[in-house]
Order: sequence, then structure tokens, then C-alpha cells
Amino acid sequence: MPACYQGELTIQRGKIVSVAESKGGVTLIIDGKRKEIPDAWVLPGLVDAHAHVVGLGIACREGYLYGANSKQECIERILQANIYRDGWIVARGWNQELWSPALFPTRWDLDEYFPDTPVVLFRVDGHAVWVNTKVLNIASITQSTPDPVGGAILRNSDGEPTGILIDAAADLVTEYIPRLSLTEIEHAIIQALFLCSQAGLTEIHDMDVLPEDLPIFTRLAEEGKLPCRVLSWVRGQHYEWRDHGILPTVGEFHRVVGVKFFADGALGSRGAALLEPYSDEPSNSGLLLLTKEELVERFKCVIEDGFSSIAVHAIGDRAVRVVLDAFESLHTLYPSLDDIRFRIEHSQIVHPDDIRRYASLGAIASVQPIHCISDAQMAEQRLGARVHNSYRWRSFLEHGVLLCAGSDFPVESYNPLLGIEAFCRRVPTARQESWQPQECISIVDAVDAYTINAHRAADMSYRRGRIAPGMDADITILDRNIYACPLEELSQARTLATVVGGKLYEHA
Ligand SMILES: [Zn+2]
Repeated sequence: MPACYQGELTIQRGKIVSVAESKGGVTLIIDGKRKEIPDAWVLPGLVDAHAHVVGLGIACREGYLYGANSKQECIERILQANIYRDGWIVARGWNQELWSPALFPTRWDLDEYFPDTPVVLFRVDGHAVWVNTKVLNIASITQSTPDPVGGAILRNSDGEPTGILIDAAADLVTEYIPRLSLTEIEHAIIQALFLCSQAGLTEIHDMDVLPEDLPIFTRLAEEGKLPCRVLSWVRGQHYEWRDHGILPTVGEFHRVVGVKFFADGALGSRGAALLEPYSDEPSNSGLLLLTKEELVERFKCVIEDGFSSIAVHAIGDRAVRVVLDAFESLHTLYPSLDDIRFRIEHSQIVHPDDIRRYASLGAIASVQPIHCISDAQMAEQRLGARVHNSYRWRSFLEHGVLLCAGSDFPVESYNPLLGIEAFCRRVPTARQESWQPQECISIVDAVDAYTINAHRAADMSYRRGRIAPGMDADITILDRNIYACPLEELSQARTLATVVGGKLYEHA
């Protein structure tokens, strides 16, 4: 059966019972009820293999700085939105790379308008915050506060903090931000997952989930309120999962499958750990957040606790190498690790020597193709000649590495078709030509990364990722055959419906 086809699908009790190909559209027979969808095509349900569900829900509420073209525009949007969280202004989405000049803003820009209200503004990638003086005072950050390990407090020529806190330094203030209420988080989750469902997603691999949010997912799943399946990788950087006694759980619509760590920061804020210094800041080669030994200690605990997956954020080539070294030590400690899915989230800059190590260590490259087309210009500045080593999708496939894909929403759009098009074309925003076209992949490989490979990366491919009798009825129904349409039309495909565990969601 081709991966995208028209015909009749019989579904019973959440499973596909039979499939028959025919022309014209899609007929679903779900537990005896017939539903005709003309001019439609079916695909195995699309998976976002790296995303932040609560983050998307919160971004719907607070993400009004996305796409702002200047710091003045950010301030105007804040004044207009007039949204508070317990007396604080919390917003997200700013990106100084869109401004001219592309310089970090300062606390003084905010103080003029907000002398007394604490203001915390997250950068688009979540790896830096822009705060006002009020927040620095609340967090007691002064000229004499040292940079925390794995973080940077940006300072002016007099050594005064400017109000930009990178990676671990951001944690110094985020702990003071009031939490959303349980009901607000529940709304955020449902709102986010309905957006995902409309975009054709049937399953989300939710990364760096707070232990306290897990019971909300479990309850919503039990109440049948999740329109997409959610697999959780719980936060583990500071052993949070152990502090909360989180163990793996099973369930049809929500499972806790793994633990998530960070080896470095992001490229935009120059927090990604590089083997050689940044081309546009020769004194800096990024921040390694955990050493190899610290990673191994954590991995041992994850394995002891019976989880089936370890996911580590690594963007820079130095971080990727350290994570691979840690996986390698683990292989020597434990003779058989076949049951553990090792995932390197982002895998953006990978030294040629390390690509083949992914395959030999069984590491999975979990990538976000859309980052490549949004960040190409910034990556050129940060990396210089090393851009050849970035976003190496075809190289991964040629070396037999398992490649799965996601969007990292809310950092990027949750629309999986944008990612599929980026995989095939690699045409950066506002450009016409393919960027590093030698790393483009085929539509078949691109869809596999969003379906069967994503399930392999969660050890669920025995049940999902193919449309065949006996498989879970997780299906995405589109208005065109994306295997046959021109590549530049891929992202225009519309989702007409999704089916998750045999439950139909109509989106047309
Ligand atoms: Zn992420």
C-alpha cells in the first residue's frame, strides 16, 4: 500500500481492520458508521517528534512578541496586550535577529515604560530572557552577581547587568514568575492540541515536561479530551523527575516514556557549545550545560527507573560530541541497551567524524527542519565555513542514522507540512535558492521522519506509522497527494480530518 492513497478504511475499536484502495476520495467506516470524504488522501498520522505542548498553549496567551520588527514594536505590543500574570508581565517571542541593528535590547528600554511592574520577555528560542530593572532587583542580580555555570548575565562596559540573561542565568529570574493556575494550564493544553490536530498531527512527543504538569495530561487523557496522543519526556536537568518520584507510565493517549536533558543552549543566543569559537564572536565558543560525567550519572538513573528513552538537547558540535561520548560510556557500562531509545534533540551542527558515531551507538537524530530555513542567515554568521556541518539530514540518512522530525513549537509553527517542505527544499525565508541543497531529502524520507521514524524513536512502530490491518487507527487526511504534488505546494496542503485511536476529528 502506498503511503498516501485513496480508498476505504474500516476501523474497529481504535484499530484498522481492513484497507481497500479505490479512486475519488476516502471512505471511513468507524465502528460501523460510514463517513465519505471526497477528494481526500490518507497518510499515516503525522507526529511532531519534538514540541512543547504547554508552551504552545501559553504562547497563544502570551506569545505576542513573535515577528516583532523592533524593540519599540515589542514595547507597543506589550502595552496593547495589557495581559498580566499575577501582577507580572510575561511575554515571549522576541528575536533581535529581525531588528536593525540586530542587537540585544536592554532593561533600560523597558524601565522607561515599566518602572514598577516586573517584566520578563522570553526570546523566541526560550534560551534568553529580557527583563527590566524591577525583575533584576526581585532576583537580587547586581554587578557583583557571578555568571552561573552554563549561563551568562550580559553586562555593559561598566560591568552592569543589561537585563539580558542567557540560559542558566535566566533560571535566576524564572523561579520568581508566578505559575499559571491549574485551570489555565489545562486550557493551554487543550487549546494547543486542537491547533495541532487542525494542522494534521495525531501525536506529539512533548519535551522537557514539568513533573507537576504530568497529572493534568493523564487526567485529560482519561477523560478523552486529548485530540492528539501525547508522549512525555519529563524534565531531568536537575533530577526533577526523581524529586517528584516520576516513573514511566503507560496509557493509550498519554504515556511518560523518557527523561529530557540539555547539553547546551541555542545558536541564536550563542549558547550552543561549539568545538571552535563563534565566527562572529571569537572569544566565545558557547556553553556546555552538563559534562560527560554529569550526563552519564543522570542516564544511569533514567535506566534504573525503567524509562525507555533518553532525550538530550544538543545543538553545537561540541555538545553533540559530549552526548555521544556519554552514550558510548553507557554502552560499556551496560552490555545490552537495545531497549533504550537515545535521542539527540536538534542535532544541528555535527562534526563529520561524529555523524557515523550516531549510527554505531544507535543514537537517533531528532531534528526540526523548519529551524534550518528560519535560521540559515544567522547560522552563516555564527558558523562561517562550518555551515556545511549544519542541518545534515541527508548525511544522517546516508550513514544509516534514524531521523525523526518535529517543529519545536512554539519556537516555530506547529504545521508539519512546513517542516516536510523544508526537508525537501531547504529554501530559507526570503530567499529563492535552496540552501546547502546537498542536504535536502526526498518526500518519502521526509514523511517517514514525521511518521514511522518518529514511532521508532518512541518504540511504538509495532503499532503506529503504517496504514495496515492491525495498526492503531491514527490517520491524517489531506486534500491532496503530497507524494505527487510539486514540492513548493507541499505546505499549502490542507488537513481535512484526523483520526486518533479511531476517533474522528473533522477540520474542513
Ligand atoms: Zn525544544
